[in-house]
Amino acid sequence: MDFDPPACVDLHIHTSASDGTYSPPEILKLALSLQLGAIAITDHDTLDGSREALAAGIPQEMGFITGVEISAERPSFFPGKGSCHILGYRVNLDDRNLNQTLERLQNARKDRNPRILERLQSLGFDLTMDEIQQAAGPKGQIGRPHFAQVMLSKGYVPSFNAAFDDYLATGKPAYVDKYRVACPRAIELIRAAGGIPVLAHPALLGTPDGRLEDSAVRALKDMGLIGIEAYYTEHTTAQQEHYLDLARKHGLLVTGGSDFHGKFKPRTELGRGRGTLQIPIDLYHALNNYA
Ligand code: AMP
Ligand code: ZN
Ligand code: FE
Ligand code: FE
Repeated sequence: MDFDPPACVDLHIHTSASDGTYSPPEILKLALSLQLGAIAITDHDTLDGSREALAAGIPQEMGFITGVEISAERPSFFPGKGSCHILGYRVNLDDRNLNQTLERLQNARKDRNPRILERLQSLGFDLTMDEIQQAAGPKGQIGRPHFAQVMLSKGYVPSFNAAFDDYLATGKPAYVDKYRVACPRAIELIRAAGGIPVLAHPALLGTPDGRLEDSAVRALKDMGLIGIEAYYTEHTTAQQEHYLDLARKHGLLVTGGSDFHGKFKPRTELGRGRGTLQIPIDLYHALNNYA
């Protein structure tokens, strides 16, 4: 099947407001040049990416939906060790409770970053917080990718991924855990902000083969979950089919996105993932029209 840009969208994008390397206006330009029909900016634990895109002005030929990706605790009914991320779409950017919680998540990151730095320093690396902040940009929220970037640029690691594999990934010597919101709370906050909570990249939850039990999906629905990200760069075709089946069976909306991070995930392209991703624009319309 040929890639049909105007009929395709990307609903999972990171910008320099979190750990993407393109600014929101640059993302808009890139999405326009790729003729994507619509996009959502879903930065980690901040609405700033969506805010900046709106402030820059959305090209009229492109759809746009506000978004955020909240770091949540993995509910105990998911075996494994992966990450539970909840996407929030169409949220009111000024919602007080949501902004308060996001601020708490951001402050927790600010507490965590010096601890990561200390660990790296005690491992013998000459690094300063100023250098890491520079990698994130003056207003950017620091995350592990910025540590990895600086370590690479100073020649401390042979590649960006090696920084994670050897130091920054879960369980490695410079890993520091971070505060997460309870999953039901993340879902509730998004709904209270007028938004649509969606389970991000279910395969990354770390369950066997990425499969989700019906009971787990029911439990998430009981918490108020509305959608599931079936289309995703790292999902296999079998996983995608599994999530589409679950969505049909449990009456969930389907979403999809590349999880574009710019140069921090160089193999992942906006809109197209690793080249084969195609996210139909109908999914964007369904999100937008959801009542
Ligand atoms: P943080 O939010 O600071 O915990 O960093 C999480 C981000 O780091 C993710 O969104 C990914 O972009 C990146 N990341 C996490 N684990 C890895 C890994 N093993 N290799 C490369 N990048 C990773
Ligand atoms: Zn990220
Ligand atoms: Fe995620
Ligand atoms: Fe993401």
